[in-house]
Amino acid sequence: MSFDSLGLDAEILKAIQEQNYTAPTPIQQQAIPVILSGKDLMASAQTGTGKTAGFGLPILQKWVEQQAQATNKLEAKKGKRPLYALILAPTRELAAQIGENIREYSRYLPIRSLVVFGGVSINPQMMKLRGGVDVLIATPGRLLDLVQQNAVDLSTIKMLVLDEADRMLDMGFIHDIRRVIAKLPKKRQNLMFSATFSDEIKVLAQSILHAPELVAVAKTNSASEQITQYVHRVDKRRKRELLSYLIGKNQWQQVLVFTRTKYGANHLAEQLTKDGIKAAAIHGNKSQGARTKALADFKSGQIRALVATDIAARGLDIELLPYVVNYELPQVAEDYVHRIGRTGRAQNEGQAISLVCIDELPQLKAIEKLIKKTIPELTTQGFEVDPKIKAEPIKKSSQRRVPPKRGSANSSRSPQFNQNGVKSSSRHNHTKNKQPN
Ligand code: AMP
Repeated sequence: MSFDSLGLDAEILKAIQEQNYTAPTPIQQQAIPVILSGKDLMASAQTGTGKTAGFGLPILQKWVEQQAQATNKLEAKKGKRPLYALILAPTRELAAQIGENIREYSRYLPIRSLVVFGGVSINPQMMKLRGGVDVLIATPGRLLDLVQQNAVDLSTIKMLVLDEADRMLDMGFIHDIRRVIAKLPKKRQNLMFSATFSDEIKVLAQSILHAPELVAVAKTNSASEQITQYVHRVDKRRKRELLSYLIGKNQWQQVLVFTRTKYGANHLAEQLTKDGIKAAAIHGNKSQGARTKALADFKSGQIRALVATDIAARGLDIELLPYVVNYELPQVAEDYVHRIGRTGRAQNEGQAISLVCIDELPQLKAIEKLIKKTIPELTTQGFEVDPKIKAEPIKKSSQRRVPPKRGSANSSRSPQFNQNGVKSSSRHNHTKNKQPN
């Protein structure tokens, strides 16, 4: 299938060609015709599947079509530029990336798009909104602030996208989302994207979508097939040493490393730098400027290891990212799927390696239950685990206890670790009765 057969405008096709997209990805093949037909959509798709173009391209197409209609021309003549589409995203990084993609896809269209998120001054955003915007990409909290200040009129919206809806719920945005939706006109097209399909997501979908078409590209809760996953058992105190060894020996030039806490991310980035591996940390306590710079340096190859917490890494779009390392396993098993989704993007293969100490075996078990497979083990001579070391319960990080603050893209999510079905097995037999507290 080619993009030409999807019924997209020539100006949009030209922009896609310049992105070197030769064929639509599976989610694009399925979602674009549904959206163009005007139906609501519930799509189960992970980041990395091309979902942004999956909703971005048909939004642009529909905007082009409605521009051609006489009534809107009249409105335009009167100087009005009614907001056409609203895209809600959970984090600043994701919102920025969606905005960047929309700008690229609409390069040859006279459309105005704008990204708004918290953590930066609101005034420039208000000024730009006053000038008129067609497509607004926003994090929920900042959008509500703008609504409160009468800086944006949501009553003209024809299309609503909830991107990474599961993460929005995890981050506590449900009330903000409902408040935003109350401001929208009843008659509109709704598109919802989510990597996972929990009962909570289904309830949200039922309350927002009308007779949606369901589209799924990867099996729910399954990790992408393109990603080769490994577990490397190692003693906790030797993790940093092993990571530096793996990066050096395998000559990894670009590796995204996940830690559980902001402090852990800073500390590890410092240690790697001391080991001669250029590294930077990215997390919610860093300023927007520092986060943007770290990401740019990582993308350009100036730093080799980007050490991130879950929230900060959410939505990072780094093309061809070859390696993801879980320096510590996440407390919520679903986060594992999100983390490793940073690699193996689009048509590229990737490797995800989890460094697992004895305390983390319950988390590993929960992850394997979620993805319905046992992750193969790697070993490295000289880094064998010491059988004398006993498991200790893992302390929950304080950053995850903070209740979500409205408007903060760094809001924490529920700290509960999914312990369903966590029990010992032969591989996990050191951990009997040990659960993270
Ligand atoms: P997304 O899932 O939207 O974050 O997209 C993941 C990556 O795939 C981004 O780097 C996109 O630029 C890229 N991408 C999206 N659609 C295509 C396509 N049809 N062909 C090749 N790459 C694509």
